[in-house]
Amino acid sequence: MTDTPAATPRCPICGSPREQRFRPFCSRACRDRDFLAWADGRYAIPAVEAEDPDDGERPLPERHQDDR
Ligand SMILES: [Zn+2]
Repeated sequence: MTDTPAATPRCPICGSPREQRFRPFCSRACRDRDFLAWADGRYAIPAVEAEDPDDGERPLPERHQDDR
């Protein structure tokens, strides 16, 4: 991972040098792509979190009364 601040800013989508008129992206396609990914992620994230109810819902065994 090479991050050079002084170098030409890159498009976060495809890594090409960004275009001034489409910044921070290199083209309108990448800009639309980022928006789609963002919109898609907004709906995908809650769905993924809600689809994992198997973890964290385990009743702890509290039977230490007749241990001695
Ligand atoms: Zn791009």
